[in-house]
Amino acid sequence: MLWKGRRESGNVEDQRGGGGVKAGGISILGLVVAFVAWKFFGADPQQTYQATKQLTTQSQPQQANPESLTAEQKEDGAFVKTVLADTEDTWTPIFQQNNMQYKAPRLVMFTGAVRSGCGTAESAMGPFYCPADQKVYIDTNFFRDMRQQMGISGDANSSSKQAGDFAKAYVIAHEVGHHVQNLLGISSQVQQARQQSSKVQGNQLSVRQELQADCLAGVWANHTQERTNFLQQGDIEVAMDAAQKIGDDYLQRRATGQVVPDSFTHGTSAQRMQWFQTGFKSGDINQCDTFKSSI
Ligand SMILES: [Zn+2]
Repeated sequence: MLWKGRRESGNVEDQRGGGGVKAGGISILGLVVAFVAWKFFGADPQQTYQATKQLTTQSQPQQANPESLTAEQKEDGAFVKTVLADTEDTWTPIFQQNNMQYKAPRLVMFTGAVRSGCGTAESAMGPFYCPADQKVYIDTNFFRDMRQQMGISGDANSSSKQAGDFAKAYVIAHEVGHHVQNLLGISSQVQQARQQSSKVQGNQLSVRQELQADCLAGVWANHTQERTNFLQQGDIEVAMDAAQKIGDDYLQRRATGQVVPDSFTHGTSAQRMQWFQTGFKSGDINQCDTFKSSI
């Protein structure tokens, strides 16, 4: 994936390396780790909140001192800003074509733990979107975890210890997809519907919401490719590999040795791959109605 030299977004807050927010309680940490073990990726905000509201905070987040950042962290920052700009340049015209205005989300880079409008989050929970403050949160160390803990492959010809660039970009585009759902009112409709449904039905709604975010990430890839021709050989395969490794069935099987469909909240690997491809091939948000289709 080519990304250097393109516009960088000004909507990124860099809180890495500062004092940050410290989470308290070893047993709570254990709980979080257990939670993460099978729901590593893009935890839905409600669950994030549920798991984090018990954490206590000790200090306010601080703005990073650029001099304290490593070369890798600086590179990560430029990468995240570029991909966020790509999402802005994708969604602004799509919203315009539908007579709406795209209000871009802000993105917070942090290390360790962070205080968000959805509670205090641990970096081990993976990136997430908080609808309450309309911000995406990501600890850029997650890019290493994707490769070293989740086994998502890196770029050929790169000495980086991280997952491949397009897999990392896909993660950001998925979280921005949740922001698009929030702006379109889909998130609040899902939340309302969940309140009136059983746990099983509620989980199925969550799956549909997650698969839609994957489809919207595909739409982003389509439009960014049209605009910048950024894809390189093997990129789509890297994203498919990532989608496969972060599907709920894969994570559950790794964690428990068995698959419990009714507790899925992100969809199976096959579903995630399929919906990313639907968005990527069409570039059309109307193809991303995961609530109507049989998934
Ligand atoms: Zn998600």
